[in-house]
Amino acid sequence: MMQLFIPLNFLGFVYREIRGAFANIERMFALLDKVPMINDSANAKTQALTQGRVSFEHVGFRYDSRAILDDVSFTIEAGQKVAIVGDSGAGKSTLVKLLFRFYDVVDGRICIDGHDIRTVTQDSLRQAIAIVPQDTVLFNDTLIENIRYGRPTASMEDVNSAIQMAHLSQFIESLPDGGQTRVGERGLKLSGGEKQRVAIARAILKKSPILVFDEATSSLDSHSEQAILTALKEVAKGHTSLVIAHRLSTVVDADRIIVLSKGKVVETGSHNDLLAACGLYANLWRVQQESGR
Ligand code: ATP
Repeated sequence: MMQLFIPLNFLGFVYREIRGAFANIERMFALLDKVPMINDSANAKTQALTQGRVSFEHVGFRYDSRAILDDVSFTIEAGQKVAIVGDSGAGKSTLVKLLFRFYDVVDGRICIDGHDIRTVTQDSLRQAIAIVPQDTVLFNDTLIENIRYGRPTASMEDVNSAIQMAHLSQFIESLPDGGQTRVGERGLKLSGGEKQRVAIARAILKKSPILVFDEATSSLDSHSEQAILTALKEVAKGHTSLVIAHRLSTVVDADRIIVLSKGKVVETGSHNDLLAACGLYANLWRVQQESGR
């Protein structure tokens, strides 16, 4: 019996190792999907970007030869909340891709704390920004580990506090194995709103000075939307936040709203300023109010 037990035990070990390796490979592919084709320049500096002041200065960008952004300029002071709105295809997500350096600008420059982002290492840049994407990747792991992914060395105390701030506690308590429930491809499927709250918890753990929230285009039920908005308000405290908004209800409290149309900034101001201006924003607002979104 013992002769059988040892090889079987060994096989079990090999199986667990291989399964672990596959989980890592999946994680790697999920990340590779998002990894940009940009390299650090030879003299890129490791630079702590701790203030979170963001400026787009006359930024132009094209995909192949198609112009997508033209002469886009705006500044987000440290701690401010700025929202970008505009029609589908206006270039909102492209702004975020450029800020994260998935691509380099063609004209102008983007600075954080006064440093052109092309002059610092990508590690320095990625440390400075936490993104809550439209569609969050969940790994085949427990919910807790999926949240801890925001900062793998985070203590359980920090993870719990992020869970509370992201308004995930009630949801986790309702799961059969609580935070130890497996999620992702082969585990429990989370709704769009729950996934975004996992991303918010990750962003809280990451403790970056800049938070980018790319609002999901798919409609969430109003309870889920409200939970996300409340969670976002918590996390935005003390952070610079850039919100790509599809529903204007998300942006009424922003310090400034930037309206993009066909890759150009056409209006800038607070919600009230823009309503009074009776321009594109006021029109979008009226249409959304009428359609009840
Ligand atoms: P939405 O509100 O629908 O998400 P958006 O304002 O975020 O739109 P972007 O995703 O920034 O718009 O896209 C701006 C333009 O760039 C669109 O016309 C889009 O088709 C084009 N585009 C986006 N990604 C690519 C790409 N990888 N290659 C070529 N063109 C692209």
